[in-house]
Amino acid sequence: MNLLLVEDDPELGRQVAGWMLDAGHKLQWEKTGASALATLQTQTYDVVILDVGLPDTDGFSLVERLRRDGVRVPVLFLTALADVSDRVRGLAAGGDDYLTKPFAIAELLARLEALHRRASNHVPTHRRLGKCRLDLMRRRVSCANESVELQPREWCLLEVLMNHEGRILPKKFLLEQVWDIHFDPGTNVVDAMICRLRRKLEMPGCGVLIETIRGKGYVFKTLA
Ligand code: CA
Repeated sequence: MNLLLVEDDPELGRQVAGWMLDAGHKLQWEKTGASALATLQTQTYDVVILDVGLPDTDGFSLVERLRRDGVRVPVLFLTALADVSDRVRGLAAGGDDYLTKPFAIAELLARLEALHRRASNHVPTHRRLGKCRLDLMRRRVSCANESVELQPREWCLLEVLMNHEGRILPKKFLLEQVWDIHFDPGTNVVDAMICRLRRKLEMPGCGVLIETIRGKGYVFKTLA
């Protein structure tokens, strides 16, 4: 497994990291919530082992933030907070499992493997696009605190654009792919929907661009 450990206690961190490496797993160790978030924006992991008491935030808020951003990676809380109310809070925040210190290494390993197994059976529900996230179930695009829902045809257009990122797509091609129209309908249906999609994706810092190449078609670009 490819693991992310978020733990500020140097001794415990070294111990857990050593055990995981010995068990044949890969492990990245972050010591603050901010660095963990930054890592999770660019890297994917099979499971995150998350401490609750971190210097800059708490693990519960961190998971809430991740889930809001659509990051579905399984999270196991590893914490000294053993009260039922803490466990409930951790799971309610979006955590998948909860193990309290002190713990047996064999149990930690077994729980991580169980989480990984469960997650591998899941179909992806989200995808990253530029600096936004796509909710594949709800056809929703979210960026920072804004989110828009796309109509089925707009979604289909976005998918075709995404799958051909960086290439000039003639209107004729888009008509065929999105509308299943194989002749010139003599309307501006493509331009109109591109405009609408652009407006919907015009969220600040969204990092997505649909350029018009005069006389040729459209190019989809992500800036992130
Ligand atoms: Ca701690």
